[in-house]
Amino acid sequence: MKKLIFVTGGVCSSLGKGVAASSMGALMEARGLNVRMIKVDPYINVDAGTMSPYQHGEVYVTDDGAETDLDLGNYARFTHSPLSRANSITTGQVYRDVITKEREGRYLGHTVQVIPHITDNIKERIKAIFLDPDADITIVEVGGTVGDIESIPFLEAARQMIHELGKKDCLTVHLTLIPQVSGGELKTKPTQHSVKELQEMGIQPDILLCRSSEPIDDGMRKKISSFTNVSFDAVISAYDVAPSVYELPLVFHAQKLDQIILEKLGIESRHSVLTAWKKTVDCLKNPKGRLRIGVVGKYMDLGDAYKSVYESLVHGGIANDVAIDIIKLDSARFEKNGCDEAGDPLAGIDGVLIPGGFGERGIEGMIEAARLAREKKIPLFGICLGMQIMVIEWARTILGWKDAHSGEFDSNTSHPVVSLLEEQRGITSYGGTMRLGKSLSVLKEGTLIKAAYGSERIFERHRHRYEVSNQYRSDLEGSGLLLSGLTEGGELVESVQWPDHPWGVGVQFHPEFISSPVSPHPLFASFIKAAKKNAPTKAEANKG
Ligand code: GLN
Repeated sequence: MKKLIFVTGGVCSSLGKGVAASSMGALMEARGLNVRMIKVDPYINVDAGTMSPYQHGEVYVTDDGAETDLDLGNYARFTHSPLSRANSITTGQVYRDVITKEREGRYLGHTVQVIPHITDNIKERIKAIFLDPDADITIVEVGGTVGDIESIPFLEAARQMIHELGKKDCLTVHLTLIPQVSGGELKTKPTQHSVKELQEMGIQPDILLCRSSEPIDDGMRKKISSFTNVSFDAVISAYDVAPSVYELPLVFHAQKLDQIILEKLGIESRHSVLTAWKKTVDCLKNPKGRLRIGVVGKYMDLGDAYKSVYESLVHGGIANDVAIDIIKLDSARFEKNGCDEAGDPLAGIDGVLIPGGFGERGIEGMIEAARLAREKKIPLFGICLGMQIMVIEWARTILGWKDAHSGEFDSNTSHPVVSLLEEQRGITSYGGTMRLGKSLSVLKEGTLIKAAYGSERIFERHRHRYEVSNQYRSDLEGSGLLLSGLTEGGELVESVQWPDHPWGVGVQFHPEFISSPVSPHPLFASFIKAAKKNAPTKAEANKG
């Protein structure tokens, strides 16, 4: 069986197309089908690696080291689709490919054009996944909004594929907005217009997912149906869910979206197993307590900048039956000896997480936050840059090297305890040149990290240029810092642990990319367990 679903978006961006596409993927998996997810992005960047988290949110990293759009993180949290470089297609990749072929003379004298050369390249990339012998259903999320100039070649490629495959094997799901005007009335006009725009591209949507604050009633569904040629039962209400988007597969299932997809694609109906999702949502709605986890980062204004980290904290909560309140702590608040006019930023905080990041701004505050968490014995989880911060703080406070720093932030320090990876020296091009992707770490017996994984050899994804400097390893270990994980040959430090502390763990890799609500990552589960232990009375007091 080979079926294809295109997911397009209308009216405006940021409606949650990635979560909607992922929820459909989860529903298809619950029906026992093998799902593949693809994101096509109309921007000209070859990948998301050089984009600022402020502009585009988190950069998601795959096993094979692709730096991709954060929607691949949604796919990883909702489905089991294998995700690699091939699952993230951008205009930049397509044009680079076509222009390279043109320079090689492979178009045999033809004029190279958007149609058919660009569209063919897009189609080939989609087919490479769609024709995977193990794939039953491939869901292609088309980034951007219908009507954008940049999306046109992708929508044209979709139109051609729908035409070639036929309606029995291919369908289009359009996500659109039903805004609420003052007075509370919901309006269907923008949806009518965006469907018309899609129809002008030659694509008739088969299913509409209508985003609105409240569920839409049958009268409104009927009206939308008659204006758009979409059957009444395929006009689905994708209303806001609280407290978590993980309820969306259940909301869709209750409206029979999965059954409608199976019928339209001619797949025989099969039993749906949603037990794991129901358990997840039940746990999120009825937690046995609440914890306050402070995240000390630099991209705090944009919710998507640390998307996978925030989600993984929630997963760690699910593993421990507690809800997580994420408290965003701007690192600038720690710069004046750990206190500002608003008081102690760590007051009432049960655990601290310092996430990954690049560039100098906010670093001193993070170092101070690490010192406070270590001294106050508050559980702390350092991820990538966060681990490097733990090492710098240790060198400054415990070893007394006041100017200890990372070469990234101070090239003149006499104690560069974090320095550029050997392989990074001399690199001047920034796209895709970091230490990227999955590699093996070997964990030491008797450490918190080994206990969390329950395994000595672990594979995690990396995205960094700097490392703990080997020159200072003996000083760090000699003063008590545990270098709890190394690469197999011992070349690089992969994790550290504070001694005499309930839970102070830093990792050079990014565990947040492989955590999901139905399978919380063991390190996040272990961190939240420690935070819960750190604050048993508070968690108890805040019950419910
Ligand atoms: N800036 C640091 C480095 O390049 C940390 C990177 C990260 O946190 N992803 O090593």
